[in-house]
Amino acid sequence: MATTSNAPNPTQPTRLVVVGAQWGDEGKAKVIDHLAADADVIVRSQGGCNAGHTVCHEGHTYKFHHLPSGVLYPHKQCVISAGVVLSPLLLQQEIEALKAKGFSLANLFISDRCHITLPYHIDRDQEQEVLRTVGQEAGQGGRIGTTGRGIGPTYMDKVGRMGLRVADLFDPPEVLQATLTRILHQKQLSPSLTLPVLLELCHTFATILKPHVCDTVPLLQEALKAKAHLLFEGAQGTLLDVDFGTYPFVTSSNAVAGGASTGSGVGPSQMSATLGVMKTYLTRVGEGPFPTELENEAGEYLCQKGHEYGTTTGRKRRTGWFDTVVARYSVAVNGLDGLAMTKLDVLDELETIPVAIGYQHRHTKEPVEHFPASLHQLAQLEPVYEYLPGWQQPTTHCTQWSELPANCQAFLQRLETLCQCPIWMVSVGPDRGQTLFKHHPFHPASTPAP
Ligand code: IMP
Ligand code: MG
Repeated sequence: MATTSNAPNPTQPTRLVVVGAQWGDEGKAKVIDHLAADADVIVRSQGGCNAGHTVCHEGHTYKFHHLPSGVLYPHKQCVISAGVVLSPLLLQQEIEALKAKGFSLANLFISDRCHITLPYHIDRDQEQEVLRTVGQEAGQGGRIGTTGRGIGPTYMDKVGRMGLRVADLFDPPEVLQATLTRILHQKQLSPSLTLPVLLELCHTFATILKPHVCDTVPLLQEALKAKAHLLFEGAQGTLLDVDFGTYPFVTSSNAVAGGASTGSGVGPSQMSATLGVMKTYLTRVGEGPFPTELENEAGEYLCQKGHEYGTTTGRKRRTGWFDTVVARYSVAVNGLDGLAMTKLDVLDELETIPVAIGYQHRHTKEPVEHFPASLHQLAQLEPVYEYLPGWQQPTTHCTQWSELPANCQAFLQRLETLCQCPIWMVSVGPDRGQTLFKHHPFHPASTPAP
């Protein structure tokens, strides 16, 4: 395939993995949308329509759930690879909404290995949330606060080897019928869900997906051979990863950088760099631990100033101060090479900005270095803050590092030191243009000196 990017044609093409380094909603979509200008192929490799990615461009706001945020570039290939789970009816709505705005979506390729969410997965997601409340008062259970979109149960069936894949939809009728019969038998679903009902649904799904379905493995292999620039778009965030997040208050896929490989079939040795997206404060939507959470006026301020309401569910996000224990943990488990710091402008008016530099035991005050696996242990800890001076000037117009107020530069430099990772990009507003680079992963040589 032909490479179409504006990036210089280095001998080593860029294969950049972008991940959320906190609890999701870090502003990945904006970062991806910006970087996609220099990529040839944009790949989403895990999660599903639980994701809510908002991109603002030329006065329009676009909200994506399944679609890669690069889809606004009609000449780039956009791939939804095997690790993603699909809700075809919702995907159809997304596709139709973009078509109505003049996008053809001829550049969208969906893997025939993706698993499909069926109505019983959504029912199960909601039932499980009710069951989880048992024991909640005794501190032993608790709702996760899922997006209710059937994501967990779809992944459960995938791992339990009773899922339905896109490829199954296109099997000859008798083969599809046999697949569905096996699934119905294994799942012992309610009698109202009969084979004819499922067959009809599969027919609808096949019609929706058909124009976009392909085997994305050869497509991506060809792109690799053609030395194309690839951009992997993570969904959710590191602390929501099923293995490394605050389990069980997590999503059901690997949101860490490794998920880009397992979900796409592009091996780890093919990746060239990993960029972690972090908000300059913290948010979390749904239940689960959040050590620097603010349940006061300051938290409300961050929520209102940052418009912290979920893209997928409309839920109000919980807010808190930047937590460098979480950040260092993310740098480690993703192997981050660089950071994109977002929503800096939300802090513009603050006099001082607290940043958690470590944790200590609530009673003994003993310092704790690492983010613990046990939520019981985590609950015994409290953050230790450093108070950094604010800059109290707008930053939304800044286009270069040197234009940022001195205190703002000092704040970001302190975060770099505490996170143990260099900052590559800073976002000072929702629009594509409100982004400044210290280091551009696709244009390393032309990055302006800080
Ligand atoms: P699920 O992915 O719907 O099962 O939800 C599990 C947890 O992950 C809940 O706390 C959700 O709020 C959270 N979550 C899932 N997707 C996203 C996302 O894209 N951004 C932020 N939080 C998410
Ligand atoms: Mg989101």
